[in-house]
Amino acid sequence: MRKFNFSAGPAALPEPVLYQAQQELLDWHGLGCSVMEISHRTAEFIAVAERAEQDLRDLLSIPESYKVLFLQGGATAQFAAVPWNLFGSGAKKADYIHSGHWAAKAIKEARRYGEVTVVASSEDRNFRYAPAKDCWQQSAEAAYLHYTPNETIGGVEFDYVPEVDCPLVADMSSSILSRPIPVDKFGVIYAGAQKNMGPSGIAVAIVREDLLHRAMAGIPRGLSWKVAADAGSMDNTPPTFAWYLSGLVFQWLKAQGGVEAMARLADKKSALLYEFLDRSEFFSSPVEKESRSRMNVPFVLADERLHKPFLEAAGEAGLLGLKGHRSVGGMRASLYNAVPLEAVVALVAFLSDFEARRG
Ligand SMILES: *Cc1c(COP(=O)(O)O)cnc(C)c1O
Repeated sequence: MRKFNFSAGPAALPEPVLYQAQQELLDWHGLGCSVMEISHRTAEFIAVAERAEQDLRDLLSIPESYKVLFLQGGATAQFAAVPWNLFGSGAKKADYIHSGHWAAKAIKEARRYGEVTVVASSEDRNFRYAPAKDCWQQSAEAAYLHYTPNETIGGVEFDYVPEVDCPLVADMSSSILSRPIPVDKFGVIYAGAQKNMGPSGIAVAIVREDLLHRAMAGIPRGLSWKVAADAGSMDNTPPTFAWYLSGLVFQWLKAQGGVEAMARLADKKSALLYEFLDRSEFFSSPVEKESRSRMNVPFVLADERLHKPFLEAAGEAGLLGLKGHRSVGGMRASLYNAVPLEAVVALVAFLSDFEARRG
């Protein structure tokens, strides 16, 4: 029996997608083998790849002037790919907004290749909020500004897109496809698939074409957006099964009404949970109200000794993946697109019951 899955990543996938993959697994479209057993150079797989790209373009209204790349190495490889691809012309300087765990990793990696200025940080209040829109200034020679629109571990989400003169780079791993985005305000958007897009093993980068010519000399082939773009993301063998499965998720998203429908659903799901947490005298959200994520909802119990009994009872109630990240403790419910409203209704009912019994 499938349970309600609040895992932060790899995370829940839409049930119809899993059924379709199951149906097609042994004999894909009459080929007599699975889609992961054929060459990525076959006309059949190229059609799968192109359809996935077109569906993603449709979902996010990606302009023609952007390349859509399907890559490996997760978002973490992109932490290095960003400076490697953008520091080639100019001063090797970049601005970063520091909003928590993932921003810190991106900053640390970029510092290996150039000079990073942290133009805004929410460290003063322990990363419980997103730095405000007008509280910082871009540096003079920045090759780009990097930020993390949704901090998956802290549960902090920006409710605005930074306005800058240099290319804006965003790590959208945990919020891509959860709402419409003005792609033309960005130079580069990247995301690992395993939160809101598909299985692990594939990442997407959406890169404005003029930024394909700014790489540092000696860039490793596997990190080069230009190489990937010129080869249709097939310079080497791509993760074909993850690409195919992400494509099924894109088709499912379109059938659900696209990212507008996902945005409405995300608002509804997260509001239901935050309203409960704010009413509760036992559970609470550590994140400041204006910056609360619609995707990842960390919460704490008034009594830490109940952590273990809480997780055990949740497991028995059919609620999976509620343990918070090891770096911060507490609990976290991730409410990605594939998590249905009923799952959140069941979670709130469980929390309410647990509070009545143990709170
Ligand atoms: C999960 C996550 C990452 C790391 O992704 P990998 O694919 O494991 O490299 C980076 N940034 C954000 C915002 C994430 O949520």
